Amino acid sequence: SLAAALRRSAGIERRIGEDPHSFRILTGDRPTGDLHLGHYFGSLRNRVRLQDAGAATFILVADYQALTDRDVTERLGERVDGLVLDQLAIGIDPARSVIFAHSAVPELNQLLLPFLSLVTVPELGRNPTVKDEIAHSRQASVSGLMFTYPAHQAADILFCKGNLVPVGQDQLPHLEVTRLIARRFNERYPGPGGVAVFPEPDALLSNAPLLLGTDGGKMSKSRGNAIALRATADETARLIRGARTDPIRHISYDPEARPAVSSLVLLAALCLDRDPVTVAHEIGGGGAAALKRVVTEAVNERFAAIRARRTELAADPGYAREVLRDGCARARAIAVDTLEEVGDAMGTRY
Ligand code: ATP
Ligand code: MG
Repeated sequence: SLAAALRRSAGIERRIGEDPHSFRILTGDRPTGDLHLGHYFGSLRNRVRLQDAGAATFILVADYQALTDRDVTERLGERVDGLVLDQLAIGIDPARSVIFAHSAVPELNQLLLPFLSLVTVPELGRNPTVKDEIAHSRQASVSGLMFTYPAHQAADILFCKGNLVPVGQDQLPHLEVTRLIARRFNERYPGPGGVAVFPEPDALLSNAPLLLGTDGGKMSKSRGNAIALRATADETARLIRGARTDPIRHISYDPEARPAVSSLVLLAALCLDRDPVTVAHEIGGGGAAALKRVVTEAVNERFAAIRARRTELAADPGYAREVLRDGCARARAIAVDTLEEVGDAMGTRY
């Protein structure tokens, strides 16, 4: 459950404070559009914080997970570059962290087959994230690839022995499958000396594990309700002006009863590093117009430097590709080593 995952995350935060170097971070995004504020407060901010604290950090561009969206694959290269630029703009440092694409590391697909043998079809099918993705995909029927997502992600996380995955709430069920696969692999293939090949990775949730979009649903790139990291100040103002609120004039923070208003309050509070209850209280009788003014200013202020940096980086059209190619080579070298270990454990190195 969410409460349990939040408690676990609090415990992990204590361990990060004590020994950040014991963590290997793997996380990523589908190149289905610009990264948005939900990503930032749900996962990106934690990536940068952990990188800066000294944890080995791997950032995946999950391009094979975008193959089920036909309109996305048409401009895939462009979207991949955009995703890399977003990561660099928020502070991912290519000298310390590895940014790579799934498609450039064939060893990931070599891991996928043994991993798929460790989960049942019902286990894959009842995964709520898969169900949700299916519900939102425009396809009439579901491809085989869609069902492999959780096993696919297990390979992405485990190839580099990732033990901590900064994600939003929607990814928790996927991570459970990864833990299951790691556990079952280690049991079935104890390996030479009985040393477990894979860690059982933990999710790291932030204080905003599910940021809502301007329509009151989960902020998502593919649902037209997102404020992009790279949006201009004017675009931001326009999007927030159009955001859903409710008919009660007095502004309060009550996520259960008033999700749309509360998500705007939360967004301002996150940008200002303040408590949402206090922020709501200060707006009080100012109503939705005052709330939207506060949110717009807070977002534009908070992201001004990141947006300027992104524009600067985008001025060199080859740079994102260069970073990605270098990251792919580094990821691949690690994947080759892991695959050898897997082969030793499974007895398939002849
Ligand atoms: P898509 O609509 O294409 O699935 P998305 O907006 O859901 O896009 P993903 O690439 O699927 O983005 O997710 C990337 C990461 O960001 C995941 O760890 C996910 O949990 C997190 N994330 C996505 N949306 C939110 C959100 N609204 N709040 C918090 N975290 C989020
Ligand atoms: Mg998603």
